[in-house]
Amino acid sequence: MLTLSKAQAATQAAQLALVRPELAAAYTVALERWMGDRKLLLLGLPIITEGHRSNATQAAYYAQGRPLLYPLAELNRLRKVAGLGPFSAKSTEARRIITYQQAGASNHNHMPSWALDVALLQADGSLTWDAGALLLFARLVRAADARVVHGADWDHDGRTDDQAFHDWPHFELTA
Ligand SMILES: [Zn+2]
Repeated sequence: MLTLSKAQAATQAAQLALVRPELAAAYTVALERWMGDRKLLLLGLPIITEGHRSNATQAAYYAQGRPLLYPLAELNRLRKVAGLGPFSAKSTEARRIITYQQAGASNHNHMPSWALDVALLQADGSLTWDAGALLLFARLVRAADARVVHGADWDHDGRTDDQAFHDWPHFELTA
């Protein structure tokens, strides 16, 4: 049985405490349903990787994948300000766009946060972000509260193939 360690559970509680109550409630209901389904649990255990995000971290995330605006040295300077480790020159992650929101503009930047990101914890302790599994989790979250928007279905029309940008781990309230 896949369960969180005490430290992981404490981190999850701390993350949820900095997220808007409606979103935290929808996440919690979805998580309980997921944990009650053995087949879903085989895909991993949903875990919040980030709820509230500082403006400094948002600025560092925005700098990723935009080397003309933010050469590696500048990207790593922003990461240091945010308390994040540097990327190496070989890093493919450094070249990947992960957000279109500048500092202060993300729904993660509110306090409490309007957004949270989810990964799937595996039995070996690793995290995965399988799109299919995250879509199944998104259905449970949206069933719990239809106001929550999934980052793979921004227009919440139930389709993910009509989006230019998929942020599979991302869930947010927009108002
Ligand atoms: Zn997010």
